[in-house]
Amino acid sequence: MSKSHSKNTINKILIANRGEIACRIAYTARDMGIKTVAVASDIDRDALHRQVVDEIVHIGGATPAESYLDSKKILDAADKTHADAIHPGYGFLSENANFAKACENKGIVFIGPSPDVIEQMGLKDTAREIMDKAGVPIVPEAKGKDLKAAASKIGFPVLVKAAAGGGGKGMRKVDNANDLKDAMEACQREAKSAFGNDSVFVEKYIEHPRHIEVQIFGDSHGNVVHLFERDCSLQRRHQKVVEEAPAPNLPEALRVRIHEAAVTAAKTLGYTNAGTVEFILDASGKLTENTPFYFMEMNTRLQVEHPVTEMITGHDLVEWQIRIARGEKLPHLQNKITHKGHAFEVRLYAEDPARDFAPQTGRLKDVILAGRNEYRLDTGFQKGDEISSYYDPMLAKLCTFGETRDDAADKMRRALGNIQIVGLQTNQEYLRKIFDHKAFLAGDVHTHFIENHHDELIKPIDMTPSVLAMAVYPLLHDVHNNGYARRFAVGANWRLNAAYRSTFILMHQGAPITFDVTGQGERYRLSYETKSALVDYIDGGDGTLLLDIDGTVHKCLLSRDRGDIIVNVDGQPVRFHVPGLSNDDALSAGDNVITAPMPGRITDILVKNGQNVKAGDPVIRMEAMKIETTLSAGQIGKITDLKVAKDDIVADGAVLARIEESD
Ligand code: ADP
Repeated sequence: MSKSHSKNTINKILIANRGEIACRIAYTARDMGIKTVAVASDIDRDALHRQVVDEIVHIGGATPAESYLDSKKILDAADKTHADAIHPGYGFLSENANFAKACENKGIVFIGPSPDVIEQMGLKDTAREIMDKAGVPIVPEAKGKDLKAAASKIGFPVLVKAAAGGGGKGMRKVDNANDLKDAMEACQREAKSAFGNDSVFVEKYIEHPRHIEVQIFGDSHGNVVHLFERDCSLQRRHQKVVEEAPAPNLPEALRVRIHEAAVTAAKTLGYTNAGTVEFILDASGKLTENTPFYFMEMNTRLQVEHPVTEMITGHDLVEWQIRIARGEKLPHLQNKITHKGHAFEVRLYAEDPARDFAPQTGRLKDVILAGRNEYRLDTGFQKGDEISSYYDPMLAKLCTFGETRDDAADKMRRALGNIQIVGLQTNQEYLRKIFDHKAFLAGDVHTHFIENHHDELIKPIDMTPSVLAMAVYPLLHDVHNNGYARRFAVGANWRLNAAYRSTFILMHQGAPITFDVTGQGERYRLSYETKSALVDYIDGGDGTLLLDIDGTVHKCLLSRDRGDIIVNVDGQPVRFHVPGLSNDDALSAGDNVITAPMPGRITDILVKNGQNVKAGDPVIRMEAMKIETTLSAGQIGKITDLKVAKDDIVADGAVLARIEESD
């Protein structure tokens, strides 16, 4: 074990990462008066993390393997810039013992634990053995030649896990002995392809678990402390979605036992720097001091969800990491580390919950941060950025802090209602529903929560004339202006013609919603199914729009996103897709690509490959929802990649043609 009592000088840190965590590390380093170096792939040419550092090394490549995972490129960049330390962030090279070793060999401080500890904790089965010897409880394992018999002995269901596993990959629940062999083979195959290591093991499946992890820190002077626990039980496919600290409804005596087990684990390893000991708690019965919990794994790095610990303890964990890497003692010993209040984190992803959470790519057109500034937003993106499929689609981490859990949850609900992400479908609506859920608010969290409540979380909102009146506003406004405004503007003094009458179709979560709007004096009547309402729009001044529904005035928050309109209903963002807009520059996905705004049939092609067009020129006509839509060019240029033909059926979002900029 390499233990250095000497002080390491750190004047310049190379951050071997990207996105929010690269930015977050740079901010703390800057506060500490340390210079920073970013590395950036070809994809990240304009990424935010390049803008918050002192120097940038362009390492090229697109895939992680060609860029952020290429240790040679990273070490060369450190050499070139004379960085004396490397912070690996999370993911990428953060838990790569060979990389940590290579840094050490070059005399560069690796901001993390020693290479041998990373290696020991890198394989789940080795880690389990070490912890077992140290007296830290581990999940019962089925071992021996006759695995079937061993598994029956610990009792089904069991869980087959990849020793080198991460991100839930390979993991399989097995309900009976007959399925064990197949599950093990499948896990082996998946592990081999994902981690290059096909070693698997079988452990008891905990039926009603909570994921509770403890933040620990060790220094090179032999001190180890914990910074309390985080509850990360809200998961989807074994991936964390919502995290909080402290863990709700946990008897104090049980908490203390979990903290002690984590400290024992870290002490056994002579752990230095930041680490997380993950436990699984068997929450099937009433929680008491003696409720069983088991070591799952140790993450030898900073975790994504570390902000919640920072919020309840008031300590900057990256600062601690850097100070420890410099050879300093822990900033505080255990008896001086306290916590107060409650913090939540949600992971905002570019993904579509309605389509089985398919990752979304595209341009982040705008991020509108409305409402009170009572949250922490860690992000690596800014307006105009392209979200590519090369890296994780996490857009941001949103955190709130409150005196109590309810208070922190209220703030999260407000934040999720106020922040508007324009350009990409996200899981924001879904997250918001979690914070409306009674069981969640009561602290009844467990790892099956999302799966069990999925139908409620995905359920569309109650469609009312007032919701539709908000959604239709930009369209009526356009009708009035005899065109389709790129952005809706509040404040124009306009009224619909009293004889106005139209039927609108808006798509919500894949289903059409049809309603009528009829001019009625100064106002108009909106009718949907059996409901109807008299509506008036009022300019609220300072860019706000007020909506008078049958005499009651509501505030409207809405934004337009290409062919979509997002309205805010009681703090919940609700997205409508607008099919059937003709002559619509907003429907072309921007600038240099023409995509299908909805599934449909191509009815006419108005241009040829190589043809020059200017912004607004009609390019393709398609029919969808029985309405013909004209897709027009978003910019001046030459048509390329025109692949569709008349009568082709195209999917929502399909790229139909591109426009190459003319020189
Ligand atoms: P990975 O490293 O692949 O993410 P972990 O061992 O950290 O795998 O487990 C991820 C999640 O899988 C846990 O948070 C928990 O929800 C679930 N899990 C892991 N082990 C068990 C188990 N023995 N019984 C039930 N669920 C488990």
